[in-house]
This record gives sequence, C-alpha cells and structure tokens, in this order.
Amino acid sequence: MLDFEEKRRRMIERLREELGISDKVAKAMLKVPRHLFVPPPYDREAYLDTPLPIGKGQTISAPHMVAIMCDLLDLKEGEKVLEVGGGSGYHAAVVAEIVGRRGKVIAIERIPELAERAKRTLEYLGYDNVKIVVGDGTKGYEPEAPYDKIYVTASAPDIPKPLIDQLKPGGRMVIPIGRYEQYLYIVDKDERGRISRRVWGPVRFVPLIGEYGFKEPI
Ligand code: SAM
Repeated sequence: MLDFEEKRRRMIERLREELGISDKVAKAMLKVPRHLFVPPPYDREAYLDTPLPIGKGQTISAPHMVAIMCDLLDLKEGEKVLEVGGGSGYHAAVVAEIVGRRGKVIAIERIPELAERAKRTLEYLGYDNVKIVVGDGTKGYEPEAPYDKIYVTASAPDIPKPLIDQLKPGGRMVIPIGRYEQYLYIVDKDERGRISRRVWGPVRFVPLIGEYGFKEPI
C-alpha cells in the first residue's frame, strides 16, 4: 500500500507528463495534502485525478483543473487573489503556496458548513495567508478589493459585473461560463480598464448560485 505522500507525488508526476503543468504549480500541489480536504470515505481517493464529494451536494475540483486554472492565472508571489467558491479550501491552499506569505487569498463560499470545515483544515495546516468568507461571491468581496487575480470555481451565466469592477487594471480572471455547455474563459483587464476575454476550452463545474449567478434551484 502506497502512503498518501507517495500517491500525491505520483499523481503530480502524471499531471506534469500529461499536461505539462509548470514547476511552480507542481511544487505547490506537492505541498498540499489533498486527502485532508476531502471528508471520509472519499479521502482514500484523494490522489485520483477526479472531483470528489465534499458534502452539501458540492465537490472538490479535479487536481488537473486546479493545476490548469493556477497556470492560466499566471500567479506570482505577493499577489492578492480572490477565489469564488471556496468549497473544501484545497484550491485556496494551492494558490496560497504560490503567492506566499507576502500574498493573500480570500476565498468566498456560500455554504456555511463547507466554509467552516475549510477554515478548520486551513488553520490546522497553518495557512494564515488564506481568509475564508461566507457569502455570495458573485458580488465579490469589496472589503479586500481590488485583486491582482480572481478565479471562480462554479459556472456562471456570464461574468459577474462586481468581479470585473474588483479586478485591478492589469489583472486577470479565470471563470467557467455556461449552464449545460460550459467553457472556461480567461478575462484580462488592461491598464486602462478595458476587458478582453478568450476561451480556454470546455469544462464541467457545479453552478454558481447568487445575485449575479444562477437562481436556486436549477
Ligand atoms: N475550489 C473548491 C475546492 O478546492 O474544494 C471547489 C469548489 S466547488 C467545485 C464550487 C463551490 O462553489 C461550491 O462549494 C459551491 O457551494 C460554491 N458556490 C456556488 N455559488 C457560489 C457563490 N455565489 N458564492 C460562493 N460560493 C459559491
């Protein structure tokens, strides 16, 4: 039986070979124990490259999607990042490894029970550069705005306007858009505040529910 650490190392090696993920992202993912973010009994499957249930009908994203989104965001040390859809806290921990202690991750989650569990896991692991907030992330999080980077881990009907407003000039957002057919978009704001967007490819996420998202239930 391989231990969790060895399974993690092998999974990330495969992601490197198959996707060509950057050294920076691979190094961060090697440090984060995904099995501690997945409640039992699914923690045993934490090093399979697949989404897994985290309770309340939600999932932790597949590791390849976390890696791809981190690379698309082109994260740098010291950046302030907003995550919409904090879920288990795993993706936030990976981003926190990359932005480091001079940086900060604010992760908003609409389901209080998930946010509470994510907070406990992150505290236990000593991530003091991650702040978990309970709320409707389609409205962003004004008290910490503006952000160098924003990423959304649930699929939206369109780019929520508050997220565009809270992105710094020169900043980037990565967001899935669509209901049944979804595409991941890279959204850039230039120094003059102009927005451009391009499609990365098809994806599958849970719906983003909120004022600038889908209405519940869908
Ligand atoms: N990034 C998470 C992780 O590492 O575990 C996985 C996120 S899961 C795919 C998407 C999350 O978005 C769910 O936990 C869901 O409750 C949350 N969500 C949906 N709509 C939201 C909203 N308007 N604001 C904040 N969170 C939302």
